Amino acid sequence: MPANGAAYPGLTAQQIFYNERSGVPAQPSPAPDRAPGAQGPGPLPLTLASAPEADGAPAGEILIPGVTGRARRPVAKPPRHLADLPMAGRRAAVAELGQPAFRASQLSRHFFGRYTDQADEMSDLPRDARDPLARALLPRLLTAERELACDGGTTRKTLWRTLDGALVESVLMRYPDRVTMCVSSQAGCGMACPFCATGQAGLTRNLSTAEIVAQVVAGARLLADSEVPDPSGGARGGRPPRSQQSPGRVSNIVFMGMGEPLANYANVLGAVRRLTDPVPDGMGISQRSVTVSTVGLVPAIARLAAEHLSVTLAVSLHAPDDELRDTLVPVNRRWQVSEVLDAAWSYAGTTGRRISIEYALIKDINDQAWRADLLGSLLAGNLVHVNLIPLNPTPGSQWTASRPADQREFVRRLEAHGVPVTVRDTRGREIDGACGQLAASAR
Ligand code: SAH
Repeated sequence: MPANGAAYPGLTAQQIFYNERSGVPAQPSPAPDRAPGAQGPGPLPLTLASAPEADGAPAGEILIPGVTGRARRPVAKPPRHLADLPMAGRRAAVAELGQPAFRASQLSRHFFGRYTDQADEMSDLPRDARDPLARALLPRLLTAERELACDGGTTRKTLWRTLDGALVESVLMRYPDRVTMCVSSQAGCGMACPFCATGQAGLTRNLSTAEIVAQVVAGARLLADSEVPDPSGGARGGRPPRSQQSPGRVSNIVFMGMGEPLANYANVLGAVRRLTDPVPDGMGISQRSVTVSTVGLVPAIARLAAEHLSVTLAVSLHAPDDELRDTLVPVNRRWQVSEVLDAAWSYAGTTGRRISIEYALIKDINDQAWRADLLGSLLAGNLVHVNLIPLNPTPGSQWTASRPADQREFVRRLEAHGVPVTVRDTRGREIDGACGQLAASAR
């Protein structure tokens, strides 16, 4: 679609790049460097309402492809996998194959406890049953297209190809005291946040529960095979020899890879259950060590609260004021800052879990001292923690991370409001660690 520069004061057509699916400008103009309501010249923030028609929707209509579930092209549903099913469903599926139902539990132990889908590694199953069971219930859903490592092998990023050709990413990060896996919940994303590489490409499709779980099982297998070194003791005295290191296990999951998890609610919830149910039903990871990160889909946050799980909710706020957030997180036009925060406080009230507020610090866009004060005043007194993420610039973007002094001042002001804050460690930058960047570079 040709960009119509006239709709955006201060920008020429060449400066506007549209998200192919949603019509959202990928490079909005810098936000006004002043408090909302203050007078003064300067470019207007771009809004979805002023975006030209996209996908047949009238200008002004808010397009949330991840929510409406419309995909770019028809895609084949991935084949059924035991990780899609609760144990009762697995027993029924095994019985359909003419096998005793208890084989469901044996197969599940292999997949969730030993991280294998290989029939020849299942010696407790009769020889003639192994192949048909594995073929029917453990199809290989993801193929590693590229694997990259950094930080001495303790950060591993995998670019996966699904059976229908979509690309998704997962990252494993081993620390002295934990192993965190960052997983994708969708191929692409429909939320169109302009600073995010995944947001630029639009949504391809939702991942199935098993496609999400398979990313974690693959990481668990890597650890079990002692492929990921233990970083403990690195600085002092060096690492113990590989043979004496503990292999480690996946302890934490963050839904911070590609996609908006709450726009793929049922499959993500299924994945949370599979990841956290004890073996053989699932992998036995603690619910408290699972974080679901969202742009702020308010009804889905309320639904998640009602599940009475102990998972942590992360909210990608990125701006404390609607004027700027409308641009940085376009779904804000549907659910504004106050509604999103109310839903978050209600989630914290129901679950007792501290809310994590994600805030990518972007130089001269959202890192002003007054925005830190506004954010601090909105959050103060709540069960909350702020995670500041230095922006990882996407290729071709004019935006970059904040100056160190501005970042320090932002932290200081939040702390002055009594709001706990950390600056996220930025592992994996040299391997396109930021959301969607590896898939973008492989396209
Ligand atoms: N859709 C979910 C998960 C997305 S990725 C969500 O928005 O929460 C996890 C976090 O990384 C989000 O807070 C997202 O806004 C942030 N992010 C995406 N691209 C980034 C970039 N280039 N630099 C820094 N943070 C980024």
